[in-house]
Amino acid sequence: MTAADDLADRVREGDLRIHELENHADHDTAAEARRLVLEDATETDLEAIGDYTFPAEAAEPNVENMIGAAQIPMGVVGPVPVNGDESSDGATDGDSSDGEATDADESAPNEGGAAEGEYYLPMATTEGALLASVNRGLGIIRSAGGATARVTKNGMTRAPVFRVGGVAEAARTVEWVNENTEALRKAAESTTSHGELVGVEPYVVADSVFLRFAYDTKDAMGMNMATIATGEACEIVEAETPASLVALSGNMCSDKKPAAINAIEGRGRSVTADVVISGKLVEDRLHTTPEAIAEANTRKNLTGSAKAGALGFNAHAANVVAAAFLATGQDEAQVVEAANTITTMDTREREDGTTDLYASVSLASLEVGTVGGGTKLPTQTEALEVLGLAGGGDPAGSNADALAEVIAVGALAGELSLLGALSSRHLASAHEDLGR
Ligand code: NAP
Repeated sequence: MTAADDLADRVREGDLRIHELENHADHDTAAEARRLVLEDATETDLEAIGDYTFPAEAAEPNVENMIGAAQIPMGVVGPVPVNGDESSDGATDGDSSDGEATDADESAPNEGGAAEGEYYLPMATTEGALLASVNRGLGIIRSAGGATARVTKNGMTRAPVFRVGGVAEAARTVEWVNENTEALRKAAESTTSHGELVGVEPYVVADSVFLRFAYDTKDAMGMNMATIATGEACEIVEAETPASLVALSGNMCSDKKPAAINAIEGRGRSVTADVVISGKLVEDRLHTTPEAIAEANTRKNLTGSAKAGALGFNAHAANVVAAAFLATGQDEAQVVEAANTITTMDTREREDGTTDLYASVSLASLEVGTVGGGTKLPTQTEALEVLGLAGGGDPAGSNADALAEVIAVGALAGELSLLGALSSRHLASAHEDLGR
């Protein structure tokens, strides 16, 4: 009888509970024992789930009651040309062929962008045709000279809710908070060597006071960091004001829920990417025109989304965000707000009478990190290494900024490809050709 069989028997006999197995065996044996119990109870064969390659102990911070791993196919798109030389404004006619890298690394450095050069972006998904579509968009962006991307705002938020006696106490609390940001900063930053308090925004609803704390969490996505720091700051608020803490998260944060506040105020990184593509390139590669793409974007992504009451105004940014999140170890539930994107597509006239396509995506609340959370798992670390962005950046925060910019350009490529397919009306046939 193996150690796993023995442990499984003890669970069946009620001697052990399934969450206690790591106290009696190594992590892989504990996972095996759980599979045995589950296979018995559900009459299943969990061979594939049990066929994982990383040591189960490595996943201890990430999962409880581990039985194995969900394996999701991972592919790669790219190279993704980001912030090479500002040349996207020039809208080249596409001299570089599809798949051929432009020499962005040797171009003049682009001030302000954290990403610079060319990146291969790993994406994990079960949706056939997604990577092919994004790669098509990237080929066009490469031929246009690359995309420009910038993180324009950075602040991971946690918003506790306090109870007060009424409106007068609410006003007193808000006044104290506004006058004592430095004390709150000192308390919050005492819990972290990287995190910095960016600001505290109070909101009042009758006898509830919400304080939306925002932090620069550098290369960490920062949700644990922000929560711990805010907990410390809340103690001072309670000591100095009439407010009593009810919940450390009062949903004004707003984590893992669709919420307009994230779309307006941002959360994590707010990042924008754009590119200018010549009309010739649009015709040669997307078999449509800048005018047709601009019209499809306006009627679908803007008017259609408005009519639908959507929070995001885009075609499928979530596809790229989710696949990049799974590949690189981000918190997948945050795709809810991380994919909140406005896509714009406009025509721009050149002096020679030809028309370019100006295309952009603005992701309001992209929560990404290159340290902490799932980024430490072996496959996810390897995916970040492919990007050259694993671990802390120099300066701190630059790796997470660069990751945000690369994902934004990936999303831009996806938007271009899908809108191109829609406006040239071959979306259905593309799926049929790929047999899915
Ligand atoms: P974390 O792993 O808890 O914290 C990041 C750690 O990395 C900190 O200990 C930080 O140290 C350290 N660090 C080292 N180099 C760094 C660098 N260059 N930049 C920033 N930090 C650096 O991760 P987190 O990002 O704060 O939180 C992510 C996790 O929170 C995920 O697992 C996610 O699933 C989970 N999560 C938690 C909540 C919650 O409410 N608690 C909500 C949603 C998700 P210092 O702090 O000492 O600087």
